Amino acid sequence: MLTALDALHSRQVYDVCALSVQGGNSTPEVPRACDADQTFLYKPRSENAKHSTIKPASKMDIFELSEIVAGGDEAVTTEMQRNGLLRTDVHCQPCGRQLTQIRKKGSTTGFVFRCPGCRRKEALTTGSFFAGSHLAMKKHLALLYFWSCETSVAEATGHVGVSSATVVQWYLYFRDICSWKLLQAPIVLGGVGTVVQIDESVMVRSKYHRGRHRRQRWVFGVYDPQQRQGYIQLVPRRDATTLLPIIQRVVAPGTTVWSDEWRAYAGLAGLGYVHQTVNHSQNFTDPVSGVCTNHVEAYWCAVKRRFKRMVGTASGMVPSYLDEHMWRERWGRTSKMAYVNLQKHISERYPL
Ligand SMILES: [Zn+2]
Repeated sequence: MLTALDALHSRQVYDVCALSVQGGNSTPEVPRACDADQTFLYKPRSENAKHSTIKPASKMDIFELSEIVAGGDEAVTTEMQRNGLLRTDVHCQPCGRQLTQIRKKGSTTGFVFRCPGCRRKEALTTGSFFAGSHLAMKKHLALLYFWSCETSVAEATGHVGVSSATVVQWYLYFRDICSWKLLQAPIVLGGVGTVVQIDESVMVRSKYHRGRHRRQRWVFGVYDPQQRQGYIQLVPRRDATTLLPIIQRVVAPGTTVWSDEWRAYAGLAGLGYVHQTVNHSQNFTDPVSGVCTNHVEAYWCAVKRRFKRMVGTASGMVPSYLDEHMWRERWGRTSKMAYVNLQKHISERYPL
């Protein structure tokens, strides 16, 4: 089952023309924002891709979810259609007639499209994020909900009534959507008159994997305390050749950049930034200028906290979790925001 879904999604999700991943430790074939040298070029699924707009439910909590699910196939399918996740208006390819939605027992949505002319049938999921899945739509809706609430795999397994492998797999697909969105909408931090903090850190492997091929992975990060947003990237080296182009891509020109005295950052002033440093061997905060890297260090802590919760996170999953972290910061600060925006971004990735 896992391998079938794997094949399905490796075909569907990634229309990547050019792919260059640094470090080589990410999930194969999956472009991640945190792992990229930004040479990805996505082919839009269709030229005239329409971006569906979601009118978010006023509140989305466990009661509202239960109400929808209690409404049966019809309520669940209508909700998913309203959110742009399943097709609604479909015309028959050969004869041009509008297909009618009729009930069909045993299909994942409970419905099928049928042409009133030639009687041809089509699934509601064709071309969607859920194409080829054998899970009932109510389970998909629940998985979207529990991922948004950061419910653990073990708990979601029990709540939804599917295997943990299925939860792991769909959670990974959701993180793939996060990566896609981040690459579509690259972040720019700072700006003239504002301060960002930069730092590097080792992303430590979870304890679960201690003793087995531990490999240190360096991450480089930028934090913008005003926007309350950060950027993380896995880096193969911590030299100027690696770090300066990342800063130029992520930090707006003219920004004041605070860092420690790591020599790779020495060229920053020559690149149009105001560069101020703190000597960490003497102070955490420079007593005269007030320069510090406290915010970016707090940012590392937040990222690592999220990792600790993912007990048993395989090292290959690190990039996808880093992307999830950045995505939640921008689009999913609350469960409700995550729930609405995850569906919005799925519908953008799979315009129907
Ligand atoms: Zn027809």
